[in-house]
Amino acid sequence: MVKGITKRWVLNTLCTIVAIVVFAVVCLSYVVTTYYYSSVEQTLSGRSVELHNILSDFNADTDVGFSATARDYVENFTEKEHMEIIVIRRSGDIMITSTGFTPEDKEPMPDYEAAKEGTSGYAKWTGKLSTGEKVTAVTRIVKNSSGNTVCAIRYVSSMSSINKLVFSAIAIFTAVGLLIISLVIFSGTYFVRSIVRPVRVISDTAKQIAQGDFNAQIDKMYDDEIGDLCDSINDMARELGASERLKNDFISSVSHELRTPLTAIKGWAETMQSCGIPDQETFDKGMDIIVKESTRLTGIVEELLDFSRMQNESMVLRLEKLDILAELEEVLYMLRDRAMNEQKHLLYDQPDIMPAVMADRNKLKQVFLNIIDNALKYTPAEGVVGIQVLCEDKIIKIIVTDTGCGIAPDDLPRVKDKFFKANQSVRGSGIGLAIADEIVAKHAGTLDIESGIGVGTTVTITLPIASE
Ligand code: ADP
Repeated sequence: MVKGITKRWVLNTLCTIVAIVVFAVVCLSYVVTTYYYSSVEQTLSGRSVELHNILSDFNADTDVGFSATARDYVENFTEKEHMEIIVIRRSGDIMITSTGFTPEDKEPMPDYEAAKEGTSGYAKWTGKLSTGEKVTAVTRIVKNSSGNTVCAIRYVSSMSSINKLVFSAIAIFTAVGLLIISLVIFSGTYFVRSIVRPVRVISDTAKQIAQGDFNAQIDKMYDDEIGDLCDSINDMARELGASERLKNDFISSVSHELRTPLTAIKGWAETMQSCGIPDQETFDKGMDIIVKESTRLTGIVEELLDFSRMQNESMVLRLEKLDILAELEEVLYMLRDRAMNEQKHLLYDQPDIMPAVMADRNKLKQVFLNIIDNALKYTPAEGVVGIQVLCEDKIIKIIVTDTGCGIAPDDLPRVKDKFFKANQSVRGSGIGLAIADEIVAKHAGTLDIESGIGVGTTVTITLPIASE
């Protein structure tokens, strides 16, 4: 059963080509037949004019030389083998034929009848004799200069040799037509197969990918549009596989991120529950940890919520004129103790005054927190994290530099991708920089990262200053 592309090809291309070839064969056959038949008639007509000119000088009733001239011409006619000449008297009797045999009475002579009745004195006929032989005949009525009918001359030629020629020409046309159709079928089938087969393979592989087999790959058979499609599907499968792995890594790191503070909170709560109210110092320490870890939990959940808003493109900014130095100071206040505890140097040389920016207070604080938290996180003890704020040409630059582990050049272009973690051993979900970059971009700013392994990392945030 022919279906799909093959069916369309058969209907649209093959049927059209077959119709054109059949039409061309029919037209050529018609033209050749007409050409041969009319050339026979022209030859017969030409010969009849010759004899007409000889006999038209006579008066058939009185001139004794008429019969002799006619007989002489007919008997010495050189093309007797190709055509027969019949001279017919005015009375309708046959006077002489070039074959020597008088035609039978029942033999039809429609051309003679038509020439007698017509004004031109000439008629032609193509038809079959009683023997079944196909002939072409022309009759010319011979009139003398006084306008009296002298006789009629009839030329008859058999069409069997012409028909053979015509049939062989038609046979050649038909053979060429069939050859063309066979070539079209052959090349078309090859072409359709070269599309249908890879499409089937692509469709099967796409089904495999849809069922979750991201390792499925298609062998590229041709270097053309189908080859490009194979490449795209292979790339798509690889990308889907990579993002599936990233998603799984993300789920496991987020679960880990959530479990760590939850374990600390649960541990301290259970200690207090089972041991009763402990001494003030232990109680304060426990409560401190519970509050800190709850804050961390809230931060993680906020980050996840932001991420989901970012995915749905439903993150809305509440813009207001802000003093960026105040916001940055608040974030640093939250991180100073931690830096001190981890023996890291947090250096910030606060400028006196900075122009205001139009920004969302909480979102901007979140960006600062994320960048400085990363700097502290990836910097070992005794390392330095420096923060600088500059105003250059209607732009405020916040530059966070650290002397931490740095990022490998291969990883650097991907650190802003969601779920990407260059350093799997350090806690983190891999979405912080993606969110920070999105927030900064929404403020018409930029977030650039420069880094070198063992040298440290510099993150530069730029924000446009608010117009007056
Ligand atoms: P995470 O929550 O894992 O820190 P981020 O999106 O904030 O996720 O950062 C993505 C990755 O970029 C991190 O996993 C880390 O490898 C790298 N990175 C970010 N900031 C720094 C930094 N200051 N120094 C070294 N590596 C960093």
